Amino acid sequence: MLKVDNLVAGYGKVQVLQDVSLEVPQGSLVTLIGSNGAGKTTTLRAVCGMIAAQSGRIMLDGAEITGLAPHDITRRGLAHSPEGRRVFPTLPVADNLLLGAFTRVTGSRPKGDVAHDLDRMYAMFPRLAERRTQLAGTLSGGEQQMLAMARALMLAPLVLLLDEPSMGLAPRLVEEVFSIIARLKAERVTMLLVEQFAAAALDVADFGYVLENGRVTASGPAAALKNDPAVRAAYLGTAH
Ligand code: ATP
Repeated sequence: MLKVDNLVAGYGKVQVLQDVSLEVPQGSLVTLIGSNGAGKTTTLRAVCGMIAAQSGRIMLDGAEITGLAPHDITRRGLAHSPEGRRVFPTLPVADNLLLGAFTRVTGSRPKGDVAHDLDRMYAMFPRLAERRTQLAGTLSGGEQQMLAMARALMLAPLVLLLDEPSMGLAPRLVEEVFSIIARLKAERVTMLLVEQFAAAALDVADFGYVLENGRVTASGPAAALKNDPAVRAAYLGTAH
């Protein structure tokens, strides 16, 4: 569903990603793990068109999206839940969610039933249901994180990019976010997940890639990666 071939990207003259290739098959959950600064966020930014690819190719649902503007990529069904709780602070929760469905309503993809999907989000994120008229900027950090995720889901995306959905959350909320990810996986939502909690990400994912200094250094079924001694020593805090 999403395929990245030999992607090279960075910021200005700084090249961060060197020949990154990865694949997210339809209905699967793939995770990208690696140390701080390895290039995980940069990979997601390049896939969704926020930064330009210097070379390489990105395919979504069999069509090339390399070089397209972010809004065109969104229209084609790629949703990005960015790092750091990017919500529209001066709009209520409900409007933030409806904006997530905007390109569905105006674009060429199946429109579906937006009202029904809004109810589904409120069922999945009861905290947001309780706060639907509250301005997004007044939500707690954890609630804003959930709103960013729910807004991305309102696109009814072909692929959902999730950047550190657990960042800065209290342990109880981290568990809640991971249980929502597991539920989305059971619903066969196609996802590419970047996570600081590598062990938890590998527990829930089907397949994983390890990124080091902008290169993919290991990949495999998530369970196999979790048992790989080098991965365990470097990213899971245990050598055994
Ligand atoms: P983290 O978990 O710390 O966010 P990451 O694997 O997501 O790590 P990136 O955020 O992709 O890493 O950063 C990769 C490299 O790109 C780092 O060296 C970082 O300093 C650099 N970088 C990130 N954003 C920018 C930017 N806007 N301008 C210039 N360099 C950047």
